[in-house]
Amino acid sequence: MMADSEMVFPGDEVAVEEEYLASDGTFAENGIVYASQIGILELDDKDCVARVITPNPPNILAEGDIVYAIVADIRNTMATADVVAKDGTERGLGCETYATIHVSKISPKYTDDVSKELRKGDYIRAKVTGVKPSLQLTTKDDHLGVIRSLCYKCKTELEKKGEGLYCPECKYSATRKLADDYGDVVL
Ligand SMILES: [Zn+2]
Repeated sequence: MMADSEMVFPGDEVAVEEEYLASDGTFAENGIVYASQIGILELDDKDCVARVITPNPPNILAEGDIVYAIVADIRNTMATADVVAKDGTERGLGCETYATIHVSKISPKYTDDVSKELRKGDYIRAKVTGVKPSLQLTTKDDHLGVIRSLCYKCKTELEKKGEGLYCPECKYSATRKLADDYGDVVL
């Protein structure tokens, strides 16, 4: 007999009909309830049924994935960011979300100053370039980079102006590696 929450395989005996009836992912034969699919066994004591639930595969990141992240910190040679979502899915990530973006991976143009391209709190769209030994991102392509940024003083959403950003309240300009659709992205 299998225990609740155990991983089971098709044909595994998971319960007896005296205690649990067959339901989703199970079938009964001669009083015995068997798993009909691979999954997690759920012995429901309230409804007295045995189910086998297929768990969602973990939503993990792979090289080439497009992600959304918030810049966490700016260092000398890199920025760190917290990945909040993978493009095309609303499911939470089942993996490491702490990522780094090396200064050489930020812009197609040469830059040696991370703080001229990204700022803490910026929302970015980035591409995964590596997952081992740690998550690494790039914002080099046109469609990658900052998609939303708030003024560090007044928190007004910065507007795109030329190649950079501008605060309509504080009247100050800032440089950034912008995505080509900065300001048009609904978050
Ligand atoms: Zn401002």
